[in-house]
Amino acid sequence: MPEIRIDPVTGRAIIIAAERAKRPRHDGTNEESPCPFCAGNEQMTPPEVFAYRDPQSSPDAPGWTVRVVPNKYPALDNEGGGASSRRGVYESTAGLGVHEVIIESPEHVVNVGELSEEQLATVLRVYRERMLALSKDERWRSILVYKNQGAPAGATLEHVHSQLIALPEAPEQLRAEIGGARRYYEANGRCLFCEIARQDAEGGARLVAEHERWVTLCPYAARFPFEIWILPKRHAPYFERSSDQNLAELAHCLRDALARLNRVLDHPPFNYLIHSYPLDGAETRHYHWHIEILPKLVQVAGFEWGSGMFINPVAPEDAVRLLRQVTL
Ligand SMILES: [Zn+2]
Ligand SMILES: [Zn+2]
Ligand SMILES: [Zn+2]
Repeated sequence: MPEIRIDPVTGRAIIIAAERAKRPRHDGTNEESPCPFCAGNEQMTPPEVFAYRDPQSSPDAPGWTVRVVPNKYPALDNEGGGASSRRGVYESTAGLGVHEVIIESPEHVVNVGELSEEQLATVLRVYRERMLALSKDERWRSILVYKNQGAPAGATLEHVHSQLIALPEAPEQLRAEIGGARRYYEANGRCLFCEIARQDAEGGARLVAEHERWVTLCPYAARFPFEIWILPKRHAPYFERSSDQNLAELAHCLRDALARLNRVLDHPPFNYLIHSYPLDGAETRHYHWHIEILPKLVQVAGFEWGSGMFINPVAPEDAVRLLRQVTL
C-alpha cells in the first residue's frame, strides 16, 4: 500500500510507492513482448472501468475506441482507511487515491499528435466522463489528468495513453494557483486567468492561436522552452462541465498546438496536464481551468532543485514567433 509522507520541514506531501519500481517497459526496444494497450491484448491489463465501444462488443475484448483501466502499478490505492499516523516529527497517511490509465487508441499509435481530431475529442470526453464518475465518490477532492509523451517525459509504454489520479486533497501545485488567483480576485474583482487570456489575445506577442472559444499562448513566466497553455475564453472553473461541442473545438485547438510543437521541435517529449478546480461544486469566480503543455527539452538541474527557480533559455515571445510560422 502506498503511503503519503509529509516533509516535516516544508510540509510537502510525498508519495512512497515501492510497487511502481516493478513497472515493465515497452518503449519499442523489446520487440518480443506484446503491447498491453493494443486491441486484442485486453487480458494483459486489469479489467476496464470504462470504454467507448461498439455496443455489440463485450468488455475487455476488441471493439473499443478509448478504454480506461486501473493502473496496474498505482501510485495510490483506492482501498484502506486513509488513517493518519504521527510519530515525533513525522506524519503519514495511507496513500489513498485512484490511478487510472486512459488508452487513447486501439491501434499502436505512439504520438498523440497523430490521432484524428475526432479521436482526440473522444479522448477529451473520456477525461470528462471519468472525472464526473469519480467526483461522485466523496473521498476524492481533486482529479488531475495528465499525459507523459515519450520516454524522457516519463512514459514507460509508448502506446498513446494518458493517466488520471483522484486525490483526497488538492495537490500543492493546484493549491498554489488557486491561492494566487484568489488573492488577485480579492484585490481586483476579476479572474486572473480571464485577464491573462484577454491580455495575451490582444497583445499578440505570446499568442500562439486564437479560436472561437479558446486561446493558446506561451505564458509570460514560462518555466520551460515552448511551454504552452490553452485556456477557455469564457470563465469556467471546471473542465468536467465542458459540453461535447466545447470538447470538439478543444480537440481542434489541442491538436493544432501539438502539431505546431511537433513541427518546430521534431516531435519532442512532453507532458500535458489539466488543472481544474477541486470537486466541491462551488461556483467560483476566481479560478479558471486550463491545459498546460510542458515540452521536455532541458533538464531540471541543480539550480532549479536548490532554488525552485527555473531557468528558461527560450523567451516565450521567441517560441511564439516560431510556433506561429508553422503552416499546418
Ligand atoms: Zn500498442
Ligand atoms: Zn476566468
Ligand atoms: Zn495550472
